[in-house]
Amino acid sequence: MTTQSEAAKPPVAQFDAVIVGAGMVGTALAGLLAEAGMQVALVEAKASPLRLDEVAGEIPAPRVSALTPVSQRLLTHLGAWPAIAAARVTPYRYMQVWDAEGSGHIHFSADEAGTPVLGHIVENDVTLAALNAQVHKQPTLTRLDSVSVSALQTTSTSRWLVLDDGRQLQTPLVIAADGARSALRELAGIAVAEESMEQEAVVTTVRCEQSHNDTARQAFIDGCPLAFLPLTVNGDDRYCSIVWSTTPAHARELTACSTEALGQALGAAFGGRLGHIIPVDKAYRFPLVQRHAKQYVQPNFALVGDAAHSIHPLAGQGVNLGLMDAAVLAEEVVVAWHRGAPWGSLATLSRYERRRRLDNSAMLGLMKGFKVLFGSHQPVFTLARNLGMSGMNQLVPLKRVVMRQATGERGRLPASCR
Ligand SMILES: Cc1cc2nc3c(=O)[nH]c(=O)nc-3n(C[C@H](O)[C@H](O)[C@H](O)COP(=O)(O)OP(=O)(O)OC[C@H]3O[C@@H](n4cnc5c(N)ncnc54)[C@H](O)[C@@H]3O)c2cc1C
Repeated sequence: MTTQSEAAKPPVAQFDAVIVGAGMVGTALAGLLAEAGMQVALVEAKASPLRLDEVAGEIPAPRVSALTPVSQRLLTHLGAWPAIAAARVTPYRYMQVWDAEGSGHIHFSADEAGTPVLGHIVENDVTLAALNAQVHKQPTLTRLDSVSVSALQTTSTSRWLVLDDGRQLQTPLVIAADGARSALRELAGIAVAEESMEQEAVVTTVRCEQSHNDTARQAFIDGCPLAFLPLTVNGDDRYCSIVWSTTPAHARELTACSTEALGQALGAAFGGRLGHIIPVDKAYRFPLVQRHAKQYVQPNFALVGDAAHSIHPLAGQGVNLGLMDAAVLAEEVVVAWHRGAPWGSLATLSRYERRRRLDNSAMLGLMKGFKVLFGSHQPVFTLARNLGMSGMNQLVPLKRVVMRQATGERGRLPASCR
């Protein structure tokens, strides 16, 4: 017999995995687990999933990512790439980096790397909408929108999630993909090493006087990287997405000034390389904090993407690292699931952490190194970086190694990315 209070309780839904956060990383992971046949719930705080007919408008969305060829292969595996390509992508075949304080410069080309492209600039909204369109076709995926998690409980073999609308979910595997300030990470009691980069990223979209020529460009100005990332809009190849990581005071100035003044500041900082610059959107500010979770996994619990690590955008690696987390975690979990082994066990999840921590740590460390090297005005550092860049520019085999790293071809790649 059920009592009245028991009857009033909402039923507990069971899933093989529950992913919290339907950004690019969480959605890609949901697709990978559901395609294997697992019953997956994808929990998202926002109201409704972005659709393809809502993206790639006249003016590109302000948030873009440089996606590596390895990420492209994962998105192709998930069936999302054709819709991304049809909506709007801009391939880049060249990269130029220079030090505005000296003569140091380095150029990379896809020909030297032996690949058709070095990567693609894609609006985050386009990637997410294309992923949604594919992943939501999976019959074993359940999406729960407009809800957050209010409690996370632990039993010996599973986790319980209590949602803020009262629903309860039980699962052997909870995955936090809820971004840099992950509430789930906090509920699980996982600490993070946090380091402010003492910079904010100013992001906007501009139209230049000259073509971008399929080139991603980045100048270091007083230790502050300014990137002009190529965008082609309806066949017009004079658009660029700007990411200027600068001091908080300068960022405030840039976001408060007139469109004309912003265009002039960008043109002057870039040494007039792309001619006259006209911003076509307002400028947005993002504080830059590098974070790295002290652990990625606990029994029946894992962190992926920005919930596990957030990184300075100067090398354009954040979401690429996150997609790689998703691909590796899915590979380990699906192998265990097919074998009938406990896929949420610490043994299974630790294999994921071992495969991903080193790569993520190396990239976070590299960004700190760049900050020290390019942030210093001491003549010895200025000389070292100028000699280093220009010297390396002559060494094609060394450049090839760097390009393989930058394009994501590192270590043992999961099958979905090969
Ligand atoms: C200026 C800038 C430029 C960048 N450029 C690049 C680049 O060129 N290349 C690159 O690879 N990376 C880049 N990045 C990094 C990249 O944007 C991030 O790494 C990526 O967006 C992280 O994706 P994610 O899915 O892990 O997290 P998010 O995109 O933050 O998604 C988290 C999701 O979880 C949801 N959520 C949050 N809390 C809850 C909750 N409690 N309950 C339910 N849902 C929740 C959110 O609504 C969101 O949908 C850049 C970052 C910045 C700031």
